[in-house]
Amino acid sequence: YKEELKKLKDLPAETKDGKRRVELAANIGTPKDVKGALEHGAEGIGLYRTEFLYMDRETLPDEEEQFRAYKEVAEAMYPRPVIIRTLDIGGDKKLPFLEMPEELNPFLGWRAIRMCLDNPQLFKVQLRAILRASHYGKIKIMYPMISSLSELRKANEILEEAKAELRHEGIPFDENLEVGIMVEIPSAAVTADILAKEVDFFSIGTNDLIQYTLAVDRMNEKIANLYEPFHPAVLRLIKNVIDASHRAGKWTGMCGEMAGDPLAAPILLGMGLDEFSMSATSISQVKKVIRSLTYDQAREIANKALEMENPAEIKEMLNKVLEEIK
Ligand code: PEP
Ligand code: MG
Repeated sequence: YKEELKKLKDLPAETKDGKRRVELAANIGTPKDVKGALEHGAEGIGLYRTEFLYMDRETLPDEEEQFRAYKEVAEAMYPRPVIIRTLDIGGDKKLPFLEMPEELNPFLGWRAIRMCLDNPQLFKVQLRAILRASHYGKIKIMYPMISSLSELRKANEILEEAKAELRHEGIPFDENLEVGIMVEIPSAAVTADILAKEVDFFSIGTNDLIQYTLAVDRMNEKIANLYEPFHPAVLRLIKNVIDASHRAGKWTGMCGEMAGDPLAAPILLGMGLDEFSMSATSISQVKKVIRSLTYDQAREIANKALEMENPAEIKEMLNKVLEEIK
């Protein structure tokens, strides 16, 4: 079985009938993770979590240090795309050199893009580093925790400032660099049609989207049984995001844990998800499921799931599907 999964490495993630091809990418936290991503056949990096550059240290990483890390990943993955997510700190992750208030609800608090927009100086250093690295590969920028159009616009304003500075300094960057957002807050998922007009792509962050949609703390063991990726509310939101992006001619990926779950793959494929980004070790399993179904089958499974009323029923159907293609 292991051998069989290994053979999949260089095969495309396309349906059995060849009607639909998707992209399978890897999530990484540091440049060191690129090797594993390539070994497992990742076609890109769908989520580069940059927090790790900032954590476990006494001072902020400067532009040069960040630039080197992003460049290393971009070059190693080239010509494959690398989606760099801007700093997502706060929530459970703190920085020693940044004063972060004690909060009653850190996951509903001063986190990610919210903190970055309040610290444009810090944010711009990262954006400049990413832009500079974009000259050396195929980089895309992604903002985390966007809840409204105004946040997206403010972030883009700072990005434009960073671009203007680099142009002025004669430093090259990719002028066509794509900019997208994570859809991980229900308000963004519901208003995906509005946001789609002003982004190049979406990436659905199911870890947070599930937490916020179901009001279930993703870290709290006591309510872990309520944390349900196959809740109809979650599936409807995912469908809404994919449809809205496609209507606007944009693409949607997913970089939460759900993207690496073989059980979820038939539904996500059938809903039209364009890119699945996951821990590299899950790629072959998800690819196997995708290659075992026709696109019509996947679409039928997705439609059925969207009509079902409870998660148990949906999972029972999906388990049968996986059993049949084993
Ligand atoms: C997510 O929320 O699904 C996600 C990918 O981001 P993180 O797990 O880093 O919050
Ligand atoms: Mg998240």
